[in-house]
Amino acid sequence: MPRPIYPDIEGYWGISTSDIVNYLWCGARYFFSKEFGWNRVTSRMILGSAVASAAKVDNKIKMIDPTSKGASVEEVVEIAVESFRAEANASEIMDRFQEGPMIDSTASAAQAFKLNLSPSIKPILCEEPIVTKLEGEHIALRGTPDYFQEGEVIDLKTGKAWSRADVANSIQLTVYACLYREVKGEWPERVGIDSIRRVRSRVWDTERIYGERSESDFVALKHVVCSVKRGIDAGVCIPASPNQWYCSRKWCPYFMECPYVGSARRKIE
Ligand code: SF4
Repeated sequence: MPRPIYPDIEGYWGISTSDIVNYLWCGARYFFSKEFGWNRVTSRMILGSAVASAAKVDNKIKMIDPTSKGASVEEVVEIAVESFRAEANASEIMDRFQEGPMIDSTASAAQAFKLNLSPSIKPILCEEPIVTKLEGEHIALRGTPDYFQEGEVIDLKTGKAWSRADVANSIQLTVYACLYREVKGEWPERVGIDSIRRVRSRVWDTERIYGERSESDFVALKHVVCSVKRGIDAGVCIPASPNQWYCSRKWCPYFMECPYVGSARRKIE
């Protein structure tokens, strides 16, 4: 997917939601993507991005005509598959994968989105780049939330199953709640994840999981973002703990060359 373009706010240091999450996951991964500009991905990352592209088209149709049910199932599947192919051709894919089964998975996940999640989505805004100021700091938060509904911020995740605890812990959703306030002038009533996860080959399940955010979450976010800024400014590059699921060939495009990963770990992946 093309990178979103955010307006600068003069005198403010800007950071995107994905960069905050990336840095907290793994400082090395953040600096690799920033400094080398590698267009490296894993096949699972492309699958998620392809389903999000199809969901975007579906939501945009509903926003133009709120009485519409969006794109057809066939159109959603076709957009997701085309998007997978286009991004796969334009990127360096770093995990082992077979194109046929991954395209089948992309089609099944997109179909699950359209049949199970889309009927309940009433978007008031989708995939717009938004910038907001972090209160009391010269820091601008940037993000492109998947969709806002009236009173709700929802993000679409395809792949790993999400839990209530994951929703409560999500820094990304807290930032998106700040972006909602920037657009709507008030905090959202709730935040949520539309989770699409594979239960077995070609069978994908969906679930919407809600959570809340309150004042103390925004105070905590401010401490986190200020610490991230200090770490980045100082060039602090702490690698992920080896037992984290995302520090793996399946999920990190830098795994095979990362200086923090030894050959013993590479052999078992
Ligand atoms: S392989 Fe692990 S330590 Fe290296 S960049 Fe990826 S997540 Fe970080």
